[in-house]
Amino acid sequence: MGRSVGRRVVVVGQGMAGARFVRRLAAWAPDARITVYDTETRPGYNRLLLTGVLAGRHRPEDISPPQVPGIDVHAGVHLVAVDRNTRTVIASDGTAQPYDTLVLATGSRPTHPWRPGRAGDGRPLHTLTDCLRLREDARKGRTSVVVGGGLLGVETALTLAARGQDVTLVHRGRHLMDRRLDAAAGAMLRAVLRDCGITVRTGAAACAPLREPGATGVVLDDSSVVSADTTVIACGVTPRVGLARAAGLAVHRGLIVDDALRSVTDPSVHAIGACAEHRGVVHDTALPAWEQADVLAARLSGRERGATYRGTRVLTRLAAAPVDLAVFGVSRTDGPTTRGPTAPARPDTDVVCLSDAVRRTYKKVVTRGNRVVGGILLGDLSTVDVVRRAYEEAVPLPQNRVHLVSAAGAAS
Ligand SMILES: Cc1cc2nc3c(=O)[nH]c(=O)nc-3n(C[C@H](O)[C@H](O)[C@H](O)COP(=O)(O)OP(=O)(O)OC[C@H]3O[C@@H](n4cnc5c(N)ncnc54)[C@H](O)[C@@H]3O)c2cc1C
Repeated sequence: MGRSVGRRVVVVGQGMAGARFVRRLAAWAPDARITVYDTETRPGYNRLLLTGVLAGRHRPEDISPPQVPGIDVHAGVHLVAVDRNTRTVIASDGTAQPYDTLVLATGSRPTHPWRPGRAGDGRPLHTLTDCLRLREDARKGRTSVVVGGGLLGVETALTLAARGQDVTLVHRGRHLMDRRLDAAAGAMLRAVLRDCGITVRTGAAACAPLREPGATGVVLDDSSVVSADTTVIACGVTPRVGLARAAGLAVHRGLIVDDALRSVTDPSVHAIGACAEHRGVVHDTALPAWEQADVLAARLSGRERGATYRGTRVLTRLAAAPVDLAVFGVSRTDGPTTRGPTAPARPDTDVVCLSDAVRRTYKKVVTRGNRVVGGILLGDLSTVDVVRRAYEEAVPLPQNRVHLVSAAGAAS
C-alpha cells in the first residue's frame, strides 16, 4: 500500500464515483482500512440503470453489484460534519470516525423548480427509492407531467409513455435540451416525442404544484395548468457540497480540486464525481466520475503515484426507444447563450450537417482546424464510433468530412 494513502480511508458517498473508487482501492491496496458512509440504505447501485427499473426492464437487485468484502459500510447513515483539526468525521448516528485520508463523493441533489416553500412537492428521479415510488405512482395513475426537458426529462417522458402513460413534458427553454442541442435538433427531437404521443410544451416554466380539490399537476408561469396524476421533476442537479463548505474547504460550484483530485485547501481531503470541481468544470455524468475514481485509487494505492486527472471529453448518449441520440463538446453553433457551450465565431470553425425530417435524423459535427470539437447525432448513430474517436482521441479528420455524418464514413 502506498504511504500516501495512510492507514484509514473514509469515503463519503457510495454512488457511481465512490463505489468505483472503493472497488479499485480495495483491489490495489488490500491493507487499506476503508470505511464508507452513505445516506441510502442500499447504496452502490448503478444509477444509469434507474430508467430501466422504471421501464420494468431491470429489477432493483439486478442493478447492484455485490459488496466488496472487508469494507466497513455504514448504509443509511448521513455524514454530518468533518473536523479537519482532529481528522475525524461525525455521522448522524452520533458516531465519530478518524481518518488519514478523506474522500468526498457526495454527488449532487436534484434542483426543484418551485417558488420558495414548495420543495417537497413532485417526485424527482434521482435515487432507487424515487424510482420505485414513481413506478408505483405510474401504476396507479394514467397521466404524468415531466418538468424539465433535459436529457433525463426526455428519457423519463419516453419511458413513461412506453408504459402507457399519457405524458406532457414541460420545459422552460425555447426548445428541448437547449443546453446541448441547437434549435434544429431540438425541433427534430420534439417531432420524435410527438410521434410517441408525448405532448411537449416549451418556453413554459412550471412554478408551483397544482393543488385543487380533485386535481393535481403543475401551474405554469403564464397561469395555465397541466393536470396530471403524477408529477416528475427533472430540472437538473446541484453539487452536494454542504459538508465540504461547512468544513472550511474551498468550494465554488463544486469542491475545488487540483489534478491530483486533492482539495486545494487540505491535501488529506479529496473529491471525485459530481461534487468535485476540476479546472472550473463540474461533471455530472458517469464517465468522468469513473475516470476520477480510477486516478485517485491509482495515486492513493501507490499503483501509480504520479497519476493525474486532466479532464474528460464526454460523449453523452440517450438510448430510450425510439430515440438514439449522442451529443458532445461544442454542439451548438446558433449564437451566444447563457445555457450550454456554443462555438464562438472563429474563422476556423466549420460545421458538417445532414438533416432528414422524414426519417427524423439530424447529424451535425463541429470542427475547428483539423479537429472535431463537438456534435449531435440524432436518429442515426452509424458514424458514432468514427466521430467518438475523432473527438475523444483528437484524431485528425478524414479528408472528406462528410464521412463524419454519412454511413460510408462508418465503413471507412
Ligand atoms: C435517473 C438517472 C439516470 C442517469 N443516466 C445517466 C446516463 O445514462 N449516463 C451518464 O453518464 N450519467 C447518467 N446519470 C448521471 C450519473 O448518475 C451521475 O453523473 C453520477 O451518479 C455521479 O456520480 P457520483 O458518485 O458523483 O454521485 P451519486 O451517484 O449521486 O452518489 C453520491 C452518493 O453520496 C451519498 N451522500 C451524499 N451526501 C452524503 C452524506 N453527507 N453522507 C452520506 N452519504 C452521502 C448519496 O446518498 C449518494 O449515494 C443519470 C442520473 C440519474 C439520476
